Amino acid sequence: MTAAEGKEKRDAGRRSALEILKNYSGPDVRIMEVCGTHTHEIFRLGIRKILPPSVKMISGPGCPVCVTPVNYIDEALMLAGEHGCTICTFGDLVRVPGTSSSLQKQRGAGAKVKVVYAPSDAVEYAAAHPGEQVVFLSVGFETTTPSVCLAVKDAMERGVENFSVLTANKTMPGAYEAMKDSTDLFLYPGHVHAIIGTGICEQLAERGVSGICAGFTAPELVTALAVGVTRFERGEPFFVNCYPRVVKAEGQPAAVRLVAEMMEPCDSEWRGIGEIPLSGMKLREKYASYDARVRFSLPKVTGRVNPACRCGEVLQGKCLPSDCPVFGKGCTPEHPVGACMVSGEGACSAFYLYGG
Ligand code: SF4
Repeated sequence: MTAAEGKEKRDAGRRSALEILKNYSGPDVRIMEVCGTHTHEIFRLGIRKILPPSVKMISGPGCPVCVTPVNYIDEALMLAGEHGCTICTFGDLVRVPGTSSSLQKQRGAGAKVKVVYAPSDAVEYAAAHPGEQVVFLSVGFETTTPSVCLAVKDAMERGVENFSVLTANKTMPGAYEAMKDSTDLFLYPGHVHAIIGTGICEQLAERGVSGICAGFTAPELVTALAVGVTRFERGEPFFVNCYPRVVKAEGQPAAVRLVAEMMEPCDSEWRGIGEIPLSGMKLREKYASYDARVRFSLPKVTGRVNPACRCGEVLQGKCLPSDCPVFGKGCTPEHPVGACMVSGEGACSAFYLYGG
């Protein structure tokens, strides 16, 4: 086949997937995006606008910043304030409101808060500033947890003792269990399953929970959604990996082994959903001296969300961002009231940027 013929064939495939999706006439179907990047791409590419009314996209709890609870921000503020630590974090967390302040406001008041692009940057900073206690804010799913483990290992091996992590790492299978009755099929996060493989998706399908794994480009998303509605119409539970160039059944065993060696499951609180048993990860006893909660003997903190914010319901697909009374008024990306408006993966910011 010539290159031109190959392109023609791919274009035809894409057109037919688009036609299948646009002309779907089967039973009503709710599809939950369990990935903030999918949420944003689906909005940005205008895919919602071509769907028939019977296909409803629901934004789920797949944005790591959005599901991190208020009390975690309060813990970080305590470390920056009372303990005088230098906080190293990914950018979005800086603007997430805690109970009474944010890291951004505390930085304005003199707290040391640095934005980093990888956990290893925080280790380098700690090594270069031995007089400071450096805490990395470790939030994220299976995709980011291995890099946190590598950073802790690196700090240990190099004797960087003024480095620790405040963990709020979460795992997806618990969220699938918690959300499975809110959707007819999951649009699984490709990045997560590139790490953990597709075993959990197959097991859920055997228990009647359907899903598709998708990539992030327009053809990948349209094709996956077309496959999803076509299979849904047949009425049998299913799982289809529509992202096989990246997601393999076995995932990345080396990354999974590293995390299992250094971390163990723990109960974890998800914003709006509550505590999901064994859905979090914390450092094992052997690495406890790198756990900021242990090192600074942090007390248990109870956070309080702004009562106007409906992030919890948005994250469970129970309401649209535009149903929130302060959406676009008191709450905008410049002046966020809740985490879903702060994060570049949040449903409220996607609604605000691209329109509902
Ligand atoms: S619009 Fe703002 S306040 Fe309302 S749910 Fe979204 S983030 Fe929370």
